[in-house]
Amino acid sequence: MSEPFSSVNLFQTAQNQLDQAAAIIGLDPAAHELLRWPLRELRVTMPIRMDNGSTQIFHGFRVQHNDARGPNKGGIRFHPDETIDTVRALAAWMTWKTALLDIPLGGGKGGIICNPKTLSIGELERLSRAYIRHTASFLGPEKDIPAPDVYTTPQIMAWMLDEYSLMQGHNEFRAITGKPLALGGSAGRGDATARGGIYCVREAAETLGLNLSGARAAIQGYGNAGSNAHKLAAELLGMKIIAVSDSRGCIYNPAGFTWADLKVYKQQTGSVAGFPGSAAISNNELLELDVEVLFPSALESVITAQNAPDIRAKIIAELANGPTTQEADTILYNKGITIIPDFLCNAGGVTVSYFEMVQNASGYYWEEEEVHQRLEKKMTTAFREVQKAAQTHKVHNRMAAYIVAIQRVTEAMKLRGWC
Ligand code: GLU
Repeated sequence: MSEPFSSVNLFQTAQNQLDQAAAIIGLDPAAHELLRWPLRELRVTMPIRMDNGSTQIFHGFRVQHNDARGPNKGGIRFHPDETIDTVRALAAWMTWKTALLDIPLGGGKGGIICNPKTLSIGELERLSRAYIRHTASFLGPEKDIPAPDVYTTPQIMAWMLDEYSLMQGHNEFRAITGKPLALGGSAGRGDATARGGIYCVREAAETLGLNLSGARAAIQGYGNAGSNAHKLAAELLGMKIIAVSDSRGCIYNPAGFTWADLKVYKQQTGSVAGFPGSAAISNNELLELDVEVLFPSALESVITAQNAPDIRAKIIAELANGPTTQEADTILYNKGITIIPDFLCNAGGVTVSYFEMVQNASGYYWEEEEVHQRLEKKMTTAFREVQKAAQTHKVHNRMAAYIVAIQRVTEAMKLRGWC
């Protein structure tokens, strides 16, 4: 099975969503126009020496959407289908994410067009270091702070931190987050994205009067977010995970999968596909399963006008960025499905990244328990603010999240005299 890749222009989606929210709150036209566009963009072309002695040219991007509330912040994706418009949309969503969680950062995102699965470790390291050399003047703890995202890992962050620090002539731990613990990483950053989403699911279930103990979940995507969502949905909520997928296949077992068993199997085989005792199903079959919670945890635009009418989940927890198209959004809303929108649901990652920067700045590191408590407080506060805005403006959760975030960014822009 190939990975779902969509032809939807994500940046147009992001602009349309902003336009809708702007109309609802009567946003000042100058603020609106400023927020429709990234403040800055950088495109880089990087020659990389491959293991066989040849030189391959890679293209990359870094987009800074808005830094009115603080330095730009957001991950770097390594993906063969990366485009500047996707990175623009993702950077804008980082602006909304940091504002919604009320952390003093703005929105940025980076990407390299590459297939990391076909690169050797050495090639991956040279590419990661090259990206930092080519973008360094754009980056830094006061300007723009990268982090992991699709197909980038703490090891990649370690190489990037090292390259950036070498260029500065001193260790600059605050320049990159999602670092390994031994290099100034934060306890609790590894599963933070999933954990934040699980706290939101718990809140949403409480509002709906839904008992999650023994309830069923399906997880599309089994990277950092999806795999940890499996672990924590079982551990913290007592849920049964009956279907999971990764780029090579989807598996189903109504009796449920144990996280530890799947982890060992995926480590050995490289995929969840073919797990003993499971049935192979299609990507659409997974999305349309009769479950209480569906976790889209892979890539963008997987829930569409085609499959949305058949989705049966009561809650959709968007751990991926942009998994639901705009047409699907309306269909799901009319069906009464509760969506926990991406820039709320997956905000745990950047929230703990912010905690990581705070710890790096003070040189004092917190216990994991403290990180969990602070994250829980941030996530539940943001969840309740979204709910309140949804009620006040009589809109669905995604619009409500936009309204809260836009108002915060606009206030900062106005105070600066930008609009
Ligand atoms: N890539 C993650 C996101 O989309 C984390 C970003 C960060 O930690 O800066 O939110």
